[in-house]
Amino acid sequence: GHLIGDQLLVETGARLKECVRPEDTIARIGGDEFTILLDGIEDIGETNRIAERIQHRLSLPFKLDGHDIFISVSIGIAPSTVGYESPNDLLRDADTVMYHAKMHGRGRYELFNEGMRASAQSRWSLENDLRQAIERHEFQLYYQPIVALGSDKLEGFEALLRWQHPCRGLISPTDFIPIAEETGLILPIGQWVLREACQQVKAWQLEFNTSQPLTISVNLSGKQLLDPQLTMHIHQILQETEFDAQLLKLEITETVFMENFETTAAIFSQLRALNISLSIDDFGTGYSSLSYLHHFPINILKIDRSFVSRMMEGGESMAIIKTIVALAKSLGMSIIAEGIESAQQKLLLQGLRCESGQGNFFSVPLDGNAAGTLCVNCTKQSITRV
Ligand code: C2E
Ligand code: MG
Ligand code: MG
Repeated sequence: GHLIGDQLLVETGARLKECVRPEDTIARIGGDEFTILLDGIEDIGETNRIAERIQHRLSLPFKLDGHDIFISVSIGIAPSTVGYESPNDLLRDADTVMYHAKMHGRGRYELFNEGMRASAQSRWSLENDLRQAIERHEFQLYYQPIVALGSDKLEGFEALLRWQHPCRGLISPTDFIPIAEETGLILPIGQWVLREACQQVKAWQLEFNTSQPLTISVNLSGKQLLDPQLTMHIHQILQETEFDAQLLKLEITETVFMENFETTAAIFSQLRALNISLSIDDFGTGYSSLSYLHHFPINILKIDRSFVSRMMEGGESMAIIKTIVALAKSLGMSIIAEGIESAQQKLLLQGLRCESGQGNFFSVPLDGNAAGTLCVNCTKQSITRV
């Protein structure tokens, strides 16, 4: 709440004061951001020591209103030796390096270098381009088949977003989704993905009349879960595209699931009420509290690729996959293994009673045309590898 937030800021300011010299200046410049001006520093080692002192002081719990509150701090250091013309330039670089520190994990400090300015500029230009990408029709969906391991039958696809940038070529979602999340653009992009995927799969269902209706899995970002209108938008898209909600699977990663526990719980119930299936993506990487899983209406666990790729080495990965399968079965959930790249991996997974899988062994993600062709073939036979 606001009251504790305000107390936390006041207490943080007081602790910062204890970490610097009386002649230094501390200012709060926005929400949870502070700027410190250290005048007359002889060598950078001194600045690093102050940064470490601040991190240590702020890592100790804050006792506020009977609660122990823990915070972490990211620090960017911009030395004035670079030769600045205006104070604003110095502040801009301090901001850039602070974001750099933050992006590389919590509780770090970093020193500014010229390369960071270039990468910040490239990022800003990417951000600008991203704002126009929907209108310019630069997004494209690729579809990766999901296959029943026992019969090799095509069950459906996972929709994977690609950005065809006019100068930079095809950009992977891991490179632009974080920017889309930070700028809020993920909301319109996420709606575009869902609409496009439902329309496409509906068209295949009508055209190819597959023996079993094809499912479509769509990835949701954590930021979408925070959008109060998410469920309404999804409902609208299902109606517009006349797509059967039972064939839609929404995926959120285990990390996001853990970070937004309470919001996720509420939204999952709403989505389940619409008959949509829910998957936990990259399962095994996000430190879920297993005891919480059964409180959520989850339908599918997707075993992270990292376990599948290491399973031939035996040892831990096999044991972890076995455990995940047993857990899913006991909670009445289905299992999909990600990143299957070889026949041996497929066989081992089948032996572990894992029902479904996807990966380059069956097919890499395909553009709409190639995936459509695959659907034609699959109406007659089980999937032949692409
Ligand atoms: P994900 O949802 O876990 O998707 C699986 C990723 O593994 C895809 O990467 C896919 O191309 C890759 N992959 C599949 N099989 C294999 C394999 O056998 N070997 C290897 N090495 N890789 C394989 P991609 O398409 O680059 O997507 C990366 C991530 O970006 C996705 O991970 C998902 O978290 C996110 N993403 C993709 N599309 C969207 C989207 O529309 N919205 C959101 N919010 N996130 C998306
Ligand atoms: Mg996924
Ligand atoms: Mg995954």
